[in-house]
Amino acid sequence: MNIRGIQKTSLIDYPGAISTVLFTGGCNLRCSYCHNPSLVYNDCNLHYYSNEEVIDLLRSRKHLIGAVVLTGGEPTIAKGILQFLENIKSLGMKIKLDTNGFQPDILKKIIIENLVDYVAIDIKTSPQKYSLLTKTKLSFNCIKESISLLKDHDIQFEVRTTCVPEFVTLQDLQSIKEQIGQVSHYYLQQFNNDNTMDEALHRVKPYPQEILLLFRQFVQTFATYCDIRGL
Ligand code: SF4
Repeated sequence: MNIRGIQKTSLIDYPGAISTVLFTGGCNLRCSYCHNPSLVYNDCNLHYYSNEEVIDLLRSRKHLIGAVVLTGGEPTIAKGILQFLENIKSLGMKIKLDTNGFQPDILKKIIIENLVDYVAIDIKTSPQKYSLLTKTKLSFNCIKESISLLKDHDIQFEVRTTCVPEFVTLQDLQSIKEQIGQVSHYYLQQFNNDNTMDEALHRVKPYPQEILLLFRQFVQTFATYCDIRGL
């Protein structure tokens, strides 16, 4: 699975449960605002945990934690993800998957095999600006497909957008709304300009609170619940 980091205990990463967070190395995007370049580039200085090591650790902490959060990087590009999730499930733990949504085929298998309980899916900007922000040419249709899968299979999920000025405006949110339709939970995240992958963003000032509140008001027109993280 290429697990390159472990946070043994988290009270905030799985809604309503104490969790262990597993970080996978590698990503299919190169977001300008990314704060985890060492994970994205699979930095050889990061520790490598074998699957057995991770499962043994989870088993030994079964009495303390109820859930596992798989994040990255991008977990869905890791080889052997289905078997790995199955091994976690056999321990009786809930699983949350953090994903950028660009692997709907893998997500479909994960959903059909009942290997996930909660999904957090990033929508980084409108389709028009995606390639500029993520430095890739992947199609936004993949994200639409992932969201449809989550809706169709009644999986609990949240959408997350980091509000990077210029890349996320009211117009971009309008375009996202047109693409994905009504959703249950949407989180807007404050942009942090420290240590971003693209140094040009170090000079970009995060939006003031009133703009984010305005964004939230708009998102509430297509999300049952919307909140702002990182204010
Ligand atoms: S922000 Fe997430 S999706 Fe984007 S490059 Fe970083 S790890 Fe990958």
